[in-house]
Amino acid sequence: HADSAMYHAKSQGRNNVQFFSPELDLFAMRRMRMEHDLREALASRSFELHYQPQVDARSRTIVGVEALVRWRNSARETIMPGEFIEIAEQSGLILPLGECVIDEACRQLRIWRDQGYTALRMAVNLSALQLRSANLLDFVAATLLKHEIGGEHLELEITESMVMDNPGACIAKLRALRDMGIHLAIDDFGTGYSSLSNLRLMPIHSLKIDRSFVRNIESDSDDLVICTATIALAHNLGLKVVAEGVETSAQRDLLAGHGCDVLQGYLFSKPVDAAAMDALLAVSY
Ligand code: C2E
Ligand code: MG
Ligand code: MG
Ligand code: MG
Repeated sequence: HADSAMYHAKSQGRNNVQFFSPELDLFAMRRMRMEHDLREALASRSFELHYQPQVDARSRTIVGVEALVRWRNSARETIMPGEFIEIAEQSGLILPLGECVIDEACRQLRIWRDQGYTALRMAVNLSALQLRSANLLDFVAATLLKHEIGGEHLELEITESMVMDNPGACIAKLRALRDMGIHLAIDDFGTGYSSLSNLRLMPIHSLKIDRSFVRNIESDSDDLVICTATIALAHNLGLKVVAEGVETSAQRDLLAGHGCDVLQGYLFSKPVDAAAMDALLAVSY
């Protein structure tokens, strides 16, 4: 509640119309305000993408980047996705926001490709609503065409739970994306619920081990077992493995030693804006 109150207090400064009701709790107020602000932010293009490198575990070169959305609010503060994605999802605003993200990620990838980083893959997170939307396939196809990018340079990240909603329909849609050459990754693997039989049916290319399993990999033998078993499972299914949340060189060495293909985390870089990513690419592409 402390931060709802803070959010509300902050918002008072930029709106003359205030409406207080004892029945409306702070969470509901915050949600309404947030939804309103998100709508305005979309109209004023106040979202920007940061990029986090994905590093090949053997060569230590950058093989991909994950696009992560940030919101620059009217006070020029950066709001992280954890604070607004859920409300964007519940209000349906994730659909236009998600389209902006795909378009901007492809626009930026075009620039990097033109600079010669031609093997770089751009990973974009999808939300459940986007995956269910009837427009997704057409939008992605049109956006790839617009920026002259082959499907194989785009990776879409989904989660296990998104597919469990309606496995049949989702898998059909994922197949269509795969048939466009697009790579598909399961994000936060191990934290959602999905059956191994569904996993086997999914036309995916990689699993991303959730960072909660990576965090204590050096000290917690259960976490190490989960990571090594996930790597073995993925490889036996013909999939690549990405480890998220790699923060230390010990975690890097342990994961690389167990055959993890790609590493992502603060050890290499936090998500950074496009200009800072340019500098990273120049030294480690
Ligand atoms: P995610 O897709 O699992 O992204 C990884 C998150 O972990 C990012 O947080 C990233 O900054 C953070 N991270 C990366 N390396 C490390 C590390 O070494 N240590 C720690 N502690 N954290 C690390 P971020 O950017 O706040 O994004 C949070 C989540 O918001 C994402 O999780 C993703 O689910 C969602 N998200 C971000 N951008 C988008 C988007 O454009 N669309 C949708 N639908 N969801 C998005
Ligand atoms: Mg992700
Ligand atoms: Mg993740
Ligand atoms: Mg996630």
